[in-house]
Amino acid sequence: MLSLWKDLLNLIYPSPVECPLCGGTRQGKDLCDNCRSIISGYKQELYCERCGRFTGKGSHIPSVSSHFCYTCRKQQWPFELVRAAGPYEGVLKEAIHRFKYLGRRGLACSLAGLMVETARAEPLLTSVDLILPVPLSDEKLRLRGFNQAVLLAEEAGYRLQMPVNTKLLVKDFETHPQAGLNRTAREQNLRGAFRVTNAGAIHGKNIMIIDDVFTTGSTMSSAALVIRSAGAKHVFGLTAAAGRYF
Ligand SMILES: [Zn+2]
Ligand SMILES: [Zn+2]
Repeated sequence: MLSLWKDLLNLIYPSPVECPLCGGTRQGKDLCDNCRSIISGYKQELYCERCGRFTGKGSHIPSVSSHFCYTCRKQQWPFELVRAAGPYEGVLKEAIHRFKYLGRRGLACSLAGLMVETARAEPLLTSVDLILPVPLSDEKLRLRGFNQAVLLAEEAGYRLQMPVNTKLLVKDFETHPQAGLNRTAREQNLRGAFRVTNAGAIHGKNIMIIDDVFTTGSTMSSAALVIRSAGAKHVFGLTAAAGRYF
């Protein structure tokens, strides 16, 4: 009876709802005003048109319309381009940590929502045939209990009305922790880890790989390489956050 009374009171006087990103209160919107203004600020930031990483704060903003980071001017990637909803810092970084390491799976909804806003702003990402999440090894999946990239991909695919396949790209063995390694060492580490299970399902298609974070790009690059080798037409990437370059 008491709970019924509480439910009734909640209907008349709805209690403030928690903002999924920062935990503050929001009034009937998807995010609180503060987080929404931070996210709007991200959309104004300059990023590398190839890898999607954001420029360092206060760095020189060139007057040319297309802009590539030092890494992307120097070398090729197996993907066409990658885009991220925002830089890997502040509320976005904290939200990804709560999602990934504290098991707050519900955050997939908010994070994928931001990724979808980003994808819709990039014309090349609107003509994708198939979404593939970056897989975890069986060992890692057992430890974590879920694959954060799968949750993001399923939510983003649903909103973008694009098919998602969680079985086509697999990770056969666990690699050493990537933190602290440079890109070359990371790529060495990942060599042979990813595999496509059915090349016929990928051949000639535009594929979008989804992951939570893009830092050095070694994971995205290694996954994109096997997808390209399986005959994909174009490979794109979409992540919740990306690092900065200086
Ligand atoms: Zn917030
Ligand atoms: Zn770049």
